[in-house]
Amino acid sequence: MAIRQKPHATGKVKAGDVTQRVGVEQLEARGVNVQELIEKLIDAAGAEFTTYYYYTILRMYLAGNEDYKEICEDARLEDRAHFELITPRIYELGGSIPYDIREFADRAGCPDAYLPGTGDGKHAPGEGTGQGPTAASILEVLLEAERCAIRTWSEVCDLTFGKDPRTYDMAARILNEEVEHEAWFIELVSMERDGVVRPSGHFRRGAPGEAPYSKNAGFYNP
Ligand code: ZN
Ligand code: FE
Repeated sequence: MAIRQKPHATGKVKAGDVTQRVGVEQLEARGVNVQELIEKLIDAAGAEFTTYYYYTILRMYLAGNEDYKEICEDARLEDRAHFELITPRIYELGGSIPYDIREFADRAGCPDAYLPGTGDGKHAPGEGTGQGPTAASILEVLLEAERCAIRTWSEVCDLTFGKDPRTYDMAARILNEEVEHEAWFIELVSMERDGVVRPSGHFRRGAPGEAPYSKNAGFYNP
């Protein structure tokens, strides 16, 4: 009996060649500009990483609003999970995050989420003016950071839909959580600043930052 030809046994990348990736070749064959995608993912990873950093500061200044602090903590830890979910993908595609963290922070795809009343991080809160940050002003910064993240991950979804199922799956899972984060901060800004109820649909995570979509980087973990 004739041995059937195995349709996927060989391709453009030669056997034993470790300088090229079939995982990249297949994306290019489907029309993905892999270099452009890598650059976008680095910018997006930079935004998640710096957001995690700035949320650490913002959360400190929500003292006395322990409920807001808990929500901020969820968003903070989930953004760290997003950084850790997407960074390995950059390497799989043949890229690298910058070797200098300053370059990484500078190219982040979203603005720095400075603590209000610090002159964009140039001085201590309220120095000179006596105007320290209010809970409402901090929540507004958090809200706009989430909105930037939604725009970012929506773009990555567009670039990869139907062509790069792995990156798409990761970006979609991150996007799920960014949409939740926006809803949380709409609820909090709306009540704190305007006294208007706009429910977010937030249910408590199992533990702070226990992101349902991006945690454990591989599967939905309710
Ligand atoms: Zn995020
Ligand atoms: Fe977020």
